[in-house]
Amino acid sequence: MDLRLDELPVWFLRIFAAWFGLIWGSFLNVVIYRVPRGLSVVRPASACPGCKTPIRAWDNVPVLSYVILRGRARCCGAPMSPRYPAVELLGGLLSVAILEAIVLRMPGSTFATRAAAVYLADFALTMGLLAAAFIDVEHMILPDSITLSGIVLGVTTATLRGLTTKASIVGAVVGFLIVWLPFTFLYKLLLKRTGMGLGDAKLLALAGAWFGWPGAVFVLFAGAIQGSVWALLLFAFGVKAKIPESVQAELDELRALAEQGDEEAKRELAEDPLAEDDAAARPRLPFGPFLILACLELLLAGPWIERFVAPLSAF
Ligand SMILES: [Zn+2]
Repeated sequence: MDLRLDELPVWFLRIFAAWFGLIWGSFLNVVIYRVPRGLSVVRPASACPGCKTPIRAWDNVPVLSYVILRGRARCCGAPMSPRYPAVELLGGLLSVAILEAIVLRMPGSTFATRAAAVYLADFALTMGLLAAAFIDVEHMILPDSITLSGIVLGVTTATLRGLTTKASIVGAVVGFLIVWLPFTFLYKLLLKRTGMGLGDAKLLALAGAWFGWPGAVFVLFAGAIQGSVWALLLFAFGVKAKIPESVQAELDELRALAEQGDEEAKRELAEDPLAEDDAAARPRLPFGPFLILACLELLLAGPWIERFVAPLSAF
C-alpha cells in the first residue's frame, strides 16, 4: 500500500480522470432534473422525457450518444436538450483539470492513497457545485442537500488541503455570516424584505469550509464582480433577464393555492424574494452560478490567485 504518485503512469491517470468525469457528468444530469423536483436520484432508471421509454445503456454513452443520435431520442425523435452533453463534457473536463492542476502538482513522493483522497474530495466538490449551478439557473434555488453536504465534506477533508479543522469551521461560519448578516438580516430589518437567499449564505459557508475565511471573502467578491460583468453584458446587448419558466410556474401554482386560502402557500410567498410585488426589487439573475465559478477558480488556480492577491494585502 505504499505506492507513490510518480510510480503511476500519467496516461492512465488522464484517461481514468476523463472517463470518470464523463460518467459522473451523465449522473449529474439526473441530479439536475430530479433533485429540485423532489424525486429520487436512484430510481427509476432514466426514461425518455418525450415518451417515457426506458433509455438503453448504449444510448446513454456520455456525449457520444448525443452526437450519434444528432440530439434526438431514438424512441420517438423528441429533441434532447444540449444541456445533457454539455454537463457530461464539463464533468470530464473538470475532472481532468483537477488531475492536472492539483494532483499532478503534488510531489512525486506523495502516497498514491493520499493523492487519490485529494482527487476524490475535490472531484465530489466540483460535481456537487456543477449540479448546483445548473439547478440554480433553472430554478433559482441552491439545494440544501448539495450545500450542506459540501460543508460537511469540506470540514472533514480540511487537513488534505493543509487547513486545520478549526480554520475550516471558522471559515464556514465567516462565510455564512458575510452573506447572511448584510444581505439577509440587515436587509430584512431595514427594508422589510429579503435581499439574498439563505442558499447563497450556505454556499459561502461551503467556500469557507473548503478554503478558509480568506477563500470565502474571495469567492464573495469574485462572484459579485463576475455577476456584475454578466449583468452589464446582458444590458449592453439589450437582453432582459427574465425569471426562468419553471420558477414562474412554481410561483403561479403557489399564488393559486394562496388565493384558495392555503396558509402554507401564503407564508412561502411572503418569504420568497422572487414573489416580491415591486418588480425592481425582484432578483432576476441567480447569484449561485457566479459564486460557484469563483469557487472553481479558487480550487483550480488557488496558488496563482494567491500570488495575484498577495500584493493587495499590503494596503
Ligand atoms: Zn421517446
